[in-house]
Amino acid sequence: MRQVAVLGATGSIGGSALDVIARHPQRFRASVLAAHRSVEALAALCERFHPDLAVIGDPACEEALRARLGAAGLATRVTAGAEALVEAAASDRCDTVVAAIVGAAGLASTLAAARAGKRLLLANKEAVVMAGPLLRAALQAGGGELLPIDSEHNALFQCLPNGRGDLSGAGVRRLILTASGGPFRGRRRDELVGITPEQAVAHPNWRMGRKISVDSATLMNKGLEVIEAHFLFDAAPDAIDVVVHPQSIVHSLVEYTDGSVLAQLGNPDMRTALAYGLAWPERVAAGVAPLDLLALGRLEFQAPDPDTFRCLALAYRALRAGGTAPAVLNAANEVAVAAFLDGQLPFLAIAEVIEATLDATALEPVRDLAQLVQTDLTARHTAQRMMRRSFC
Ligand code: NDP
Ligand code: MG
Repeated sequence: MRQVAVLGATGSIGGSALDVIARHPQRFRASVLAAHRSVEALAALCERFHPDLAVIGDPACEEALRARLGAAGLATRVTAGAEALVEAAASDRCDTVVAAIVGAAGLASTLAAARAGKRLLLANKEAVVMAGPLLRAALQAGGGELLPIDSEHNALFQCLPNGRGDLSGAGVRRLILTASGGPFRGRRRDELVGITPEQAVAHPNWRMGRKISVDSATLMNKGLEVIEAHFLFDAAPDAIDVVVHPQSIVHSLVEYTDGSVLAQLGNPDMRTALAYGLAWPERVAAGVAPLDLLALGRLEFQAPDPDTFRCLALAYRALRAGGTAPAVLNAANEVAVAAFLDGQLPFLAIAEVIEATLDATALEPVRDLAQLVQTDLTARHTAQRMMRRSFC
């Protein structure tokens, strides 16, 4: 029986993970559930899954959660705060951690799970982008397993030899990430003036949290995924390509030197990747509808438009610059996306804020978590300064 910690349990990925867990009560148990401030949603999940531990990220919500669980007569222990998340991720209460907190807030707990040798189901791509070298070292030190949950990386993992994501000597020429193109695929730059948050989060194929939905609309999501692929699979930037595939059926492809191209296909439903990660190397039902190829009829592939969607090029720039550049890119993006969702920043200015922040920041080689936390903080301040100067 796998004891699973779901960090980000009240989110979109957390909900999909719990759906798969609930389908297999003999195999999986949700032993730890964590969220940020959604006390009622987390309490409802505790009533359903009876975890040993519930962690609430914001300490101000601790008493409300404890009172709510007490009133429901649950024995679930309650802890709170960023350090409690780290402790939970590394604790004996779980052997598997679903890292599904959004943004840099998930970094420390993701690293802790890796260092503790857990099976790490990694959805929190921002953690890899910020701290790829640290995550790799933590995985090596902990001796656990990383199962990528981002659908593209899960697809690549499935298409790589031995399903282990080891490119060395495997005859791999290229990793090809597919991108849906988001809600504004095919539009020109001047057609993106005045885009509202509600338009940006209306993704055509996937139901996701608001931050990643905006990232999909700017193509920064794909940029973050290029960096994620680099760190997860040790692939050079030039060996990672992006193609736009509007149907989101082919989740990504691996091109080999002999001309073979392996792809993983499926309906766009994150439960496939989560079931794969939970049960690996076995397969279990995920509740996902079978793929109907005849109903689909055709699959299309197009080149991305780098002039309209500049975030993709900025991500390649940060990856090639190396060191702390991806962490700076990520921090500036988180700040700009939050401001956009708040109605404070125009959609097209997201890329400008990120570029200005990269331009203004001196880069360093990645050393440790404390350095990256400081890099993240400084880049957030720089991004805010850039926004005030230019757009607010
Ligand atoms: P959501 O916004 O739906 O959920 C985010 C979750 O993180 C919530 O449970 C939230 O809790 C929790 N959280 C946020 N901040 C903190 C914090 N400081 N401390 C503790 N918990 C926190 O996001 P998604 O599920 O869409 O995305 C999660 C991650 O997975 C992201 O990194 C995203 O890029 C990645 N991903 C998502 C995909 C998807 O289909 N959704 C696909 C591929 C990757 P609360 O409810 O209390 O705020
Ligand atoms: Mg993805």
